[in-house]
Amino acid sequence: MKLYLDPGHGGQDPGAQGNGLNEKDITLDIALKLRKILQDEYENVEVKMSRTSDTTKSLNQRTTEANSWHADFYLAIHINSAGSSAQGYEDFIYSGLSDSSKTAQYQRTIHNEVMKVNELRDRGSKKANFHVLRESTMPAILTENGFITNGHDAGLMKQSSWQQKVARGHANGLAKIFNLKKKPTPAPAPTPQDPNQGTLYKVIAGSFKSRENAEEQITLLHNKGFEAFVITTTISGDRWYRVQAGAFSNRANAEDRLAELKKAGFTDTFLITTE
Ligand SMILES: [Zn+2]
Repeated sequence: MKLYLDPGHGGQDPGAQGNGLNEKDITLDIALKLRKILQDEYENVEVKMSRTSDTTKSLNQRTTEANSWHADFYLAIHINSAGSSAQGYEDFIYSGLSDSSKTAQYQRTIHNEVMKVNELRDRGSKKANFHVLRESTMPAILTENGFITNGHDAGLMKQSSWQQKVARGHANGLAKIFNLKKKPTPAPAPTPQDPNQGTLYKVIAGSFKSRENAEEQITLLHNKGFEAFVITTTISGDRWYRVQAGAFSNRANAEDRLAELKKAGFTDTFLITTE
């Protein structure tokens, strides 16, 4: 699957502004996180970005690039603005498309998956005559991820963890639409052996006899915006699959993560320490 990923605005065009934030920065942060999730976790995904840094690029350059690359899907990430009271998430497809079009079906999937994790009010799925939707030759969607001019929404936008959740929601939608296959879980990172590094606190969100159950737990964690992977351990001759959701050299940070997990409903969580 070839995804053309377009973080809105950039360079001389800051996009919407409010609460000390520029749209161009938030859209880029979300898009870079989305690219990382897709490349790290899924097979057979090629991602071309309209920009990977704070550079100026016209709308025409973006759609021409996507079209000549023959992308399978065009995803534009934006942030909204209005008066201070408007808030929430909405997404757009080209106004010339019918509700039964393939693109409209894709829109519903992206919408549902993003709304599950973004903590924003739902403003619905819409249509518009935007350049990137009209001039792209493949199915195209533009998401407006909150209002930079609203205190609640902007407060979320400032958080890297929220940007990660929004990226995760988009990734989940794309995975459903294109039936993307997960890469095998990577081997756990080696534990630092340098004695000067001291103790490492690993946050374990569940310990399982079956690898399948551990993988299911990882999916649940991903859906709530937590990064996690499996580590194996042997206790009294039995193999256990532990789901690691963070590792910290500082105990307080590890306990913070533990509290976040409990708040999100993961109760079977504990810390282990390695020297
Ligand atoms: Zn925009």
